[in-house]
Amino acid sequence: MSENLKRILCYDRVHMNPKLQRKIIHVDMDAFYASVEQRDNPKLIGKPIAVGYASKRGVIAAASYEARTFGVHSAMPLITAMKLCPQLIVLPPRFDVYRSVSQEIHTIFADFTDIIEPLALDEAYLDVTKNKQEIETAWKTAKIIRSRIFEKTGLTASAGISYNKFLAKLASDMKKPNGQYAITPDMGEEFIAQLPIAKFYGIGPVTAKKMIGLGIHTGKELRLHSLDDLQKHFGKVGIWYYDLARGIDDREVNPNRERKSVGSETTFEQDSSDRNTIESEIIKMAELVWKWCEESKKRGRTVTIKITWSDFSKSTRSKTLENKVTTFDQLQKTSLELLQSLFPLKNKIRLVGVTISHFV
Ligand SMILES: [Mg+2]
Repeated sequence: MSENLKRILCYDRVHMNPKLQRKIIHVDMDAFYASVEQRDNPKLIGKPIAVGYASKRGVIAAASYEARTFGVHSAMPLITAMKLCPQLIVLPPRFDVYRSVSQEIHTIFADFTDIIEPLALDEAYLDVTKNKQEIETAWKTAKIIRSRIFEKTGLTASAGISYNKFLAKLASDMKKPNGQYAITPDMGEEFIAQLPIAKFYGIGPVTAKKMIGLGIHTGKELRLHSLDDLQKHFGKVGIWYYDLARGIDDREVNPNRERKSVGSETTFEQDSSDRNTIESEIIKMAELVWKWCEESKKRGRTVTIKITWSDFSKSTRSKTLENKVTTFDQLQKTSLELLQSLFPLKNKIRLVGVTISHFV
């Protein structure tokens, strides 16, 4: 059977058979780290605050809604944030507290379903196709979960409700903060049609640019392209874009995701050989990886950096330390040392990534 035919049958299978439709809730705490800080220190309520390590090249891990009105957002370099908002109050993260709040919300989730997939401390997918409380709708389930979270933690959460993970995650952003939104199967197509291409799951800034170059700005335009055409331009992942444009995302909510490594990578807007630019991006990626290590309380021994050159060839450099990496400084230092070994560069760099593995 041709791949095309298979996809068409899959589309029919999912859309014609309501039994195969899942009910998924994506729960996302509002400005999580920053809200916890404001909850625990009422003097901070109503003020622009950010959580992050106040180092020279640090980045912001979370920003309060007050800070966001100045344009401050997570993953932004601290220096940039201070320029946008000179009165910004920067607090060091307290991961122990965030982890314990996360445990509290997971205890609540477990009253409704056992199929819970955490994405971060403050974010999870819940499959409530069958919910333990036999609540009639996923909408009502989400309402109850959110109000129980507020009672227990004093913090607000938003929720997205839909028939797959892709749409549930987009939906939770629609009524933030402290709101919820559902994308039902009959709304799916219309919702996707108007969706800007950069909002599609798995489409980063570089792919988005390429899509726009092909005249694809929205889901509606994406849908006009055949599978063959998308595969010609995007290779294997073409099928994924083809499916998403039709509201198909068969990924299950996976409660047992045991990670063996965690990595973060970024593609440059323009290929670069500028040392400062490349180092800054390596540090940014190391920060994201470290945030995950702190959140999950996992510590690894092997640090790997990955480079894609402008001709698309790849290089990796790894170092396994005698003991686990216990501080961000250590991770940063090791990553930069590995990068150093690639100088002088043989070519411009297109992408950099940092990974930590070999958890102990
Ligand atoms: Mg959040």
